Amino acid sequence: MLNDKIKILASCADHDDSEAISVETARQKILAKISSITETEKLSLHQSLNRVLAEDIVSTINVPGHTNSAMDGYALSGHDLPGTAPQQYSVIGTSFAGQPFKDTCSTGQCVRIMTGAVMPAGTDTVVMQEHIKKLTDTKILIASGHKTGQNVRQAGEDISKDSVVLKKGHSIQAADLGVIASIGIAEVKLYRQPRVAFFSTGDELRAIGDTLDSGDIYDSNRYSLYGMLRQLHVEIIDLGVVKDKLSDLREAFKLASDQADLVITTGGVSVGEADFVKTILQEMGEMHIWKIAMKPGRPITFGELGNALFFGLPGNPVSVMTTFYQFVSPAIQQLSGQGARAPLTFDVLSDSTLKKRRGRFECQRGILSRNETGQLTVCATGKQGSGMLTSMSRANCLILLAEDCDGINAGDSVTVQPFNTYL
Ligand code: AMP
Ligand code: MG
Repeated sequence: MLNDKIKILASCADHDDSEAISVETARQKILAKISSITETEKLSLHQSLNRVLAEDIVSTINVPGHTNSAMDGYALSGHDLPGTAPQQYSVIGTSFAGQPFKDTCSTGQCVRIMTGAVMPAGTDTVVMQEHIKKLTDTKILIASGHKTGQNVRQAGEDISKDSVVLKKGHSIQAADLGVIASIGIAEVKLYRQPRVAFFSTGDELRAIGDTLDSGDIYDSNRYSLYGMLRQLHVEIIDLGVVKDKLSDLREAFKLASDQADLVITTGGVSVGEADFVKTILQEMGEMHIWKIAMKPGRPITFGELGNALFFGLPGNPVSVMTTFYQFVSPAIQQLSGQGARAPLTFDVLSDSTLKKRRGRFECQRGILSRNETGQLTVCATGKQGSGMLTSMSRANCLILLAEDCDGINAGDSVTVQPFNTYL
């Protein structure tokens, strides 16, 4: 009788769970429910690092603004370059960066020029100072072998006036700050940062500093979640630990969804007796997804709570992180105005033999490195239990094993996903 029941009811331990959907299907379903934050704010350039542009940045100027020298050397006309025999030139003045030479350069003449200095009238070519022979203070010799236009940067060759330099939805990085500064813009319009509230659920959880009674554990999920959220540059609302008690959980759900765009909980989403998250979500909001064919990481819950999106992640510390990288991170990027960004993945050779059962997607923890022959390879971090968080802290990537894969031999090619890198 009991055996019959075990066969009928789907459980988290099942390998072939027909109700479960694939990771990619789940990700697409989740993204389809999320629209970008629309509120914007104007901030100074310094404050805009890692923030998302809510407008195209259009340049009102050329960069560089003037045709200028790429080298320290001598400017002259390309028509006047020597043929086969070396030729003498008179040096008629100097053009410095910020102090242009005002006169015109004629045949048989050249102008001493510094990197970044405006090209004087009558010149279009620069000969590097290492390639000339100085005869006197005002006479130089140039040999053959030079080309018209060499060592010169054209006006607007980096950014042309009226062009779009950065697009709406772009997350501003260090180089972008410089690019925006180079076109003289001091403030940019950005989307408001997503507000993300989270709490851990579980009667066994204790805060750092508390003493542990038998069966108690320290709450680690809130710390790894905090770290992953910081790396996504969102506003963080940490609501602590909530007991596995319906009334406490209801209150926490309400508090979180009233102030956040996205609420994340960990624990309490399986079918254990104290797993209330799913029940409350159904009661207070709308549940969209529950079972995903993924290890470690199922079951996870995705839904809506009032105006907030909701992710109920599993309690196991590794599952929290793998599901975050596969689902929460793309969701936050979409919410922040960046659209759906794919995580960077690529194929490398596996140094390890990896065990896996066919039927569900697996994220194993890997260490990418170069072997003695200089080839990029990945090895597993050892034991892969979903409670072993050190396997995650030793890793620098996830090894992604497709649903139909039934194991990897050392020397086979595998797909890896470095942490926190997106296309
Ligand atoms: P649950 O999903 O609530 O059944 O939890 C699954 C496992 O993860 C249990 O062993 C929990 O003790 C553990 N766990 C749940 N929440 C946390 C947390 N915040 N920090 C560390 N371990 C946790
Ligand atoms: Mg629990």
